[in-house]
Amino acid sequence: MLVRNIETGRNLLVRLDHGADIVSQISEAAASERIHTGVFSIIGALTDAQIAFYDQESHEYHELMVDEPVELVSCTGNISTKDGKPFVHAHAVLAGLEGECRGGHLIKGGIFAAELYMQELLSPPLIRMHDSVTGLYLWGDG
Ligand code: ZN
Repeated sequence: MLVRNIETGRNLLVRLDHGADIVSQISEAAASERIHTGVFSIIGALTDAQIAFYDQESHEYHELMVDEPVELVSCTGNISTKDGKPFVHAHAVLAGLEGECRGGHLIKGGIFAAELYMQELLSPPLIRMHDSVTGLYLWGDG
């Protein structure tokens, strides 16, 4: 277990751009505000999306295309540092016309409308490092 006690910084509300990719917009908002560590949540609607499920045995992501408009019921995630750059890790729950939900690791999504709440965390950069047990890039203590 890795525990880091972190003070909170600024709180930002951001209206994301219609037609843009949601993960890129989160990265751009963090970069423009010079936030290297933070947490966020988003609600809104997407025109389409790509989500993924991480297979814990094969250590591979299985991707799922969502080729229809969906409600972005919930999207939460964090911002840390990987390879010296800000890295967004986001998960999402998406609801279709009948309320049916799909969810997973969010790779990308076309924004219809989306409202971002981002909280800055005042910390030395939180670095993602390759973890041989899971095959993922997890927070390290380096
Ligand atoms: Zn994930």
